[in-house]
Amino acid sequence: MNIRISRFLCCLCFLLFHVQMKAQFDWVRMLGGVSKAVQAVTLTDEQMAEYVREYVAKMDADNNVCPENSPYTIRLKKLTNGLRDAEGIPLNFKVYQVRDINAFACADGSVRVFSSLMDVMTDDELLGVIGHEIGHVAHRDSKKSFRTALLTSALKDGISSSHEKIAVLTDSQLGTLTEAMINARYSQKQECAADDYGYTFLKKAGKNPWAMALAFRKLKQLQNNAQNSQAGAFLNQLFSSHPDLDMRIERMEERAIKEKIAKPMMTLRIK
Ligand SMILES: [Zn+2]
Repeated sequence: MNIRISRFLCCLCFLLFHVQMKAQFDWVRMLGGVSKAVQAVTLTDEQMAEYVREYVAKMDADNNVCPENSPYTIRLKKLTNGLRDAEGIPLNFKVYQVRDINAFACADGSVRVFSSLMDVMTDDELLGVIGHEIGHVAHRDSKKSFRTALLTSALKDGISSSHEKIAVLTDSQLGTLTEAMINARYSQKQECAADDYGYTFLKKAGKNPWAMALAFRKLKQLQNNAQNSQAGAFLNQLFSSHPDLDMRIERMEERAIKEKIAKPMMTLRIK
């Protein structure tokens, strides 16, 4: 496969990559100095929302967002038509034109799909990934994950114990936040719950919930294809700590069969 799969999780959960990120966070504003970093332990919903908003804005500014007239944007818009909110959290979708295969969802309902993922997935498969990610948003997993990453980064850098005002963070400190987010894995229970939510969510929105099983099958295929590549070892390392993909495929397929949902015979890629 002539695709760069440098970092790729089976669940594609809330991964944030620094590959395309050029600028740094405005941490002075984000954490607002030492006292706020300490207060982070008791972050209010409002404060959290503000941090997440800032983070997403930064990600959007630092990555190459596909314009409205891009075939990627048009395809994603068509795909996600009717997907408006997750438990009251309004959703918004954008495509990043990047070489890494990935997608992520933030606690504020921002879903970002990478163009390279769109290149290798059918519409149904993409919907499955999106449905799963929205499951994490709806269950507030994404919010907890962001909070943990924020605290980990702040504490790791000794911000909480310092009495000096934080200077603008360096690239390495930004890396710490990214690393903390990547390491903030979800439990098997959370993963399965997100799968179940995604299934119900897609079905309610009039999409075919077979998307879930199809997405996981593609992820498995991608993993197998990557076995001999440079990314293979990295992928395997990630997969070994994730819930069994076969089990998740089986769960989603069993449900669709039980509910007598017709499996899509052919999934067209609109490019
Ligand atoms: Zn997940």
